Amino acid sequence: MHQFLSRRTFILIPTMSILKILFKPMEVLASSLVSKEEWNLSKDEWKSRLSPESYYVLREEGTERAFSSQLNNEKRKGVFHCAGCDLPLFLSDKKYDSGTGWPSFWDSIQGSVETKVDFKLIVPRTEYHCSRCGGHQGHVFNDGPRPTGKRYCNNGLALWFVPD
Ligand SMILES: [Zn+2]
Repeated sequence: MHQFLSRRTFILIPTMSILKILFKPMEVLASSLVSKEEWNLSKDEWKSRLSPESYYVLREEGTERAFSSQLNNEKRKGVFHCAGCDLPLFLSDKKYDSGTGWPSFWDSIQGSVETKVDFKLIVPRTEYHCSRCGGHQGHVFNDGPRPTGKRYCNNGLALWFVPD
């Protein structure tokens, strides 16, 4: 028994430290990668600007409940802006119904979003965020329609819509 335990410990300790190194990227939120100095706001400043729900999505990479956003059914012409800093991110003519319950787009406005890989569901996913304030928007997948084949799966709480 003693031998068994010590062997287990011998294997467990290096394994844990390897896992710790592997999963360290999980702790880096996109919102902490913000490059624009004027949008490098403190937690309290963001909390005073945003609703608690939008704060959770934009600044803590939360995900809203599927089919909870009114923007799911938004079909007017217009522009979808970042709810954090008002940067235009998506045009209505790139929006489509993906059936997933989140506002979905097959393309973003050039330069408006940046990506990073996250491991929140263990399987790597490509997170994307506003290129100006670092606010988390959603995840991008490769099962979207032509011509890009991309599906930007966006939280409605991270956007606000400006009709033309
Ligand atoms: Zn923004």
